[in-house]
Order: sequence, then C-alpha cells, then structure tokens
Amino acid sequence: MNVFMPSVDLRVSTPFLWHSSEGLTLPHLTVETLEASRILTVAKDSFPEFESGEKCATVDKPPLPILVSLGSLINRRKTLRKYAKGLASFVGLPKSPILLTTADPVTLSRSGYNGSKTVSVWSNGNRYKVSSGDFIDAVQSAKPAVIVALSDGDTPKDASNKRILKSVQATLDHLDAVLEAKRSGALGDGVLVYGAVEGGFNEEQRIRSAVATAEREVDGFLIEGFHANGAESGEVDLANSDVLPLMRKVVERLPESKPRMYMGSCDPLQVVSLVECGIDMFDASYALHLTKRNSAIDADVLFNVDLENIEIESEEDILRQERGHSSTSFELEMSDPRYKEDFNPISSNCNCYTCLNHTRAYVNHLIATKELLAPVMLTMHNTFSYSRFFNLVGESVRKNRLAVLKSALVHAKSGAAKKRRKDSEK
Ligand SMILES: [Zn+2]
Repeated sequence: MNVFMPSVDLRVSTPFLWHSSEGLTLPHLTVETLEASRILTVAKDSFPEFESGEKCATVDKPPLPILVSLGSLINRRKTLRKYAKGLASFVGLPKSPILLTTADPVTLSRSGYNGSKTVSVWSNGNRYKVSSGDFIDAVQSAKPAVIVALSDGDTPKDASNKRILKSVQATLDHLDAVLEAKRSGALGDGVLVYGAVEGGFNEEQRIRSAVATAEREVDGFLIEGFHANGAESGEVDLANSDVLPLMRKVVERLPESKPRMYMGSCDPLQVVSLVECGIDMFDASYALHLTKRNSAIDADVLFNVDLENIEIESEEDILRQERGHSSTSFELEMSDPRYKEDFNPISSNCNCYTCLNHTRAYVNHLIATKELLAPVMLTMHNTFSYSRFFNLVGESVRKNRLAVLKSALVHAKSGAAKKRRKDSEK
C-alpha cells in the first residue's frame, strides 16, 4: 500500500515504521548521529520516490518519520504557536512527517484517569486533562502530517465492560469533534486524521468501534487498547493470546485501502504476525526498550535467515515452536561479562556506525562503567537494525514471501536460543 501525506508532499510504502521520540527528541540521537549511523539512509530506502527524480533534488535531508505523543507537547503549545512553522521545523527536520498520538508507546500509560470529555496525559510529572478542543489546539500549534484523533485506550485486560463502553464512546465523540474541525478548515492544510479503534478484549465492543470508525471520514486507523504501552506492551503474547483473533475480526471490518496501525514494542516475529493480520504501520519503541535493558538486536540471526531453502511450516508448528522459546532470542545482552574481551562488532553483518567503528568489548565496557555513550551506541545499532528489518518485511510482502520469512525467523530464533544455551553451559 502507498500512503500519501499531503502536508509534507510525501508518498510512503507499507509496512511503515514511525520512529519513537521521548519528549520532543529522539532519545540519545541528534540528526547528525542519525545521518552518521545511516538511519536516515535506511528511512530513505523505504521512500522509493526519493531515489531518483525531482523530489530528491528538493530535499536536503531525507525525511525521518517521527511519532510524538500528546504529553510531550501539551505544555509547549504556546511556544509552538509563536514559532508558527510547526514541530517538524522546530526539531530541525522540516520535511519529515510527524504523527501525533494520545498515548506514548515508549512509556507505560497510567490507568483510571480518563473521563467522558477528557483524556489525561502527563508532562514532567504534571497531569493534563485534555479535551477535544485542547487536542485541536495542539494540532494547530504543532502542524503534524498525521494525527490519531484524541483517544481513550485505557482498557487493560481486566477492564470492566462499563469502562470499555465508555472508552469506545468517548473516542468516537473525540473523533467527531476532530473531524468537524477538519471539515471547517481549522486543522490546517492536508493533515490526515486517523481514528482509534477501541474495545479492549470485548469482541462486541471491538466490532462496534471498528464499524463506527470505518463509517466516518477517516484516513486511517490505530488499533489500540490491548495493552498499556511501555516495555510491557512487548509481553503481549500475540501467538498464544486472544489478541490476534480479535485483531483479525477488527481488520476485516476496516477498508483495505486505508492504513491500519498498531503501537507497541513488537519483536521481529510479532511484526510479521501483525503484518500477516493486515497491520500496515508500527512504531519503533522496541528498539528503545532494547537499549533501556542494555540489549542489542542480534542482526547476525535476524538477517542471515535463509529465505531460499526453507519449508513453510503450518501455523500450529510455528505456535508450538514459539511456546518453547523466550522472546529474547533476537537479542544480545550486551552487559553480559562474556563480551568483556570480545573484539568483534555487535553484529558482523551490520553497517551501522556502532558496528563499523566499535567492538562488543567496548560497548560492554561502556555499559559496565555507566557511560552515557552506552545508550547512544546501542540506540544507533538498534534503530538501524529495526529499520533494516522493516525493509526486509516490505520486500517479503512485495515478493509474496511473508510466510517464508516467518518460518525462517522461527527457525533462526530457535537456533539462536539453542546456541545461547550451549554457550552459557560452556
Ligand atoms: Zn550495528
């Protein structure tokens, strides 16, 4: 699928990855380090239109799609309004699309603070009760390319039906207010409005929310409310829980022509399962969460998957193998003393700045001495590798080989887990 973002004059292809921000910055990274680490180049690869032709000549820096949550700009609206050129210019990436969401995929959301008219977000420890009007004001100040209309995704697994019902209704009411503002021209030119599909783990409400959102004039969808964001979102066991069947029922009711997004910390296999299920857009919080626990994506496992000589396995076989292994098999724990005298790069097949210039021993040392450079090194590798993985998924989709990639990843994962068990027995 191609998604056109008129306000930045950009056409992108799916599966598409939004980079996660913390506050208004990309954690541990500046534009310069992003360029040095070739992350911008990777992002550029997923924009075929920028490879040649006129557009390339008019853009100084390739665009970097960034997800910004409401909490990080709610108390900066005045500054941004005065600045007038929008948040993307403000952070030095004027041609980059910004996606504004209510919840922050990087941070655990607090439960129990949303009302029928307001959604609570936090900034510097202060609580802000945000109404549809405040949200529209934030959009006018920040001028993002895409917004998910104000949404109430506070539906943890044990949420009551009453809470779920309220979240579905409040989210639809906020969406109507935002769409009304768009029709009247109050949102600014070309901003795309996505609607959030809620309903927690209640099938009836999920379907009601999906159908009602699809009936409205939205440009895309965010399917949320399955978890409370933050690192814990990675623990949603997609293969074995009731999330995927419910997700399929939701996706079936959304038009195929409009992008569907999922937010959360998804490991590579989870990404593939969700793409199979019909999800088109993701966020890169997984890469940040890895960095926070001093881990690195094991690119040697991830990108050496054998796509040519693999038998496609049945869904049952994949589930069985999945159950047997922890989700950490695509990760290297870089704080492990075993890397103390390992003078190889984190991954031998990785072209990121960290892998081209530094060793596992150096990164291990930075972590052991709590140097601030440790998360910088890890973020460059993790963000680069996660972006690169999305290119691989995109290629597999275009070649109709997604099932092959999934089987190969399951094999690679179990192989890596076995190898690590052997290594630690040594
Ligand atoms: Zn690397």
